[in-house]
Amino acid sequence: MIQVEDLHKRFGDLEVLKGIHLQIDEGETVVVIGPSGSGKTTLLRCINLLEIPTSGRLQVADANLVFQPGAHLKMRELIPFRRNSGMVFQGYNLFPHMTALQNVMEGLVTVLKWPKAKAAEHAASMLGKVGLRDKRDAYPHQLSGGQQQRVGIARAMAMNPHVILFDEPTSALDPELVGEVLAVMRSLAQEGMTMVVVTHEMSFARDVADRIVFMDGGVIAAAGTPDEIFHQDGNQRLGQFLRRIV
Ligand code: ATP
Repeated sequence: MIQVEDLHKRFGDLEVLKGIHLQIDEGETVVVIGPSGSGKTTLLRCINLLEIPTSGRLQVADANLVFQPGAHLKMRELIPFRRNSGMVFQGYNLFPHMTALQNVMEGLVTVLKWPKAKAAEHAASMLGKVGLRDKRDAYPHQLSGGQQQRVGIARAMAMNPHVILFDEPTSALDPELVGEVLAVMRSLAQEGMTMVVVTHEMSFARDVADRIVFMDGGVIAAAGTPDEIFHQDGNQRLGQFLRRIV
């Protein structure tokens, strides 16, 4: 389970998250939508502590921390959060000098200290899950954007995290490659993976999300099932946003 309580994040004078409350249950797929600059990426980066919240409380599975302005965290406090969450980025962030298989193995060998043979076997099976078993020896530049992103997803899955955080995973892709990545994400959701997905793909949100969260100006301005979000008529900002994007 993920629990975010009164989470604030400030960059200098700019308060980007202004008190986020969010609970995500195991197996849930939560899609985060909202205008540019509303704090969606910052929220994801706070959940795996790529950014350190200014204040509030965060729990991701068995990792639990209260943040206070000015307090310094120790590496041993960060590590459980990093282990419990996998991240899939907009740009695929693969190591260019490593094959698909080596990219997926990397965390298993260096972070989890698995023996290479066991890591390779597991990585190959993760590549199989994203439909890339035959591309294990290809380097990133030999793969399409959609294939690279699927390697990115396999890499996140390989570490068996409690949750996978997706930050606009299809927004850098040519339109014809978006579908294959969304299909992999859809099947992960169906298998019961806990997922938080920042995306502008409204059909994915409508079909796959258990819950949609609408961020605006650093707060959660609306949240509900896809039906509730797409058929709401009380929230003017959400209405405006949806009219612009759908
Ligand atoms: P988009 O849809 O455009 O990606 P977003 O909702 O994900 O936007 P964030 O990327 O979280 O928004 O950014 C929210 C605000 O925080 C923006 O004004 C951004 O400039 C600012 N911001 C984000 N990261 C930093 C940083 N490291 N230092 C300073 N300001 C930052």
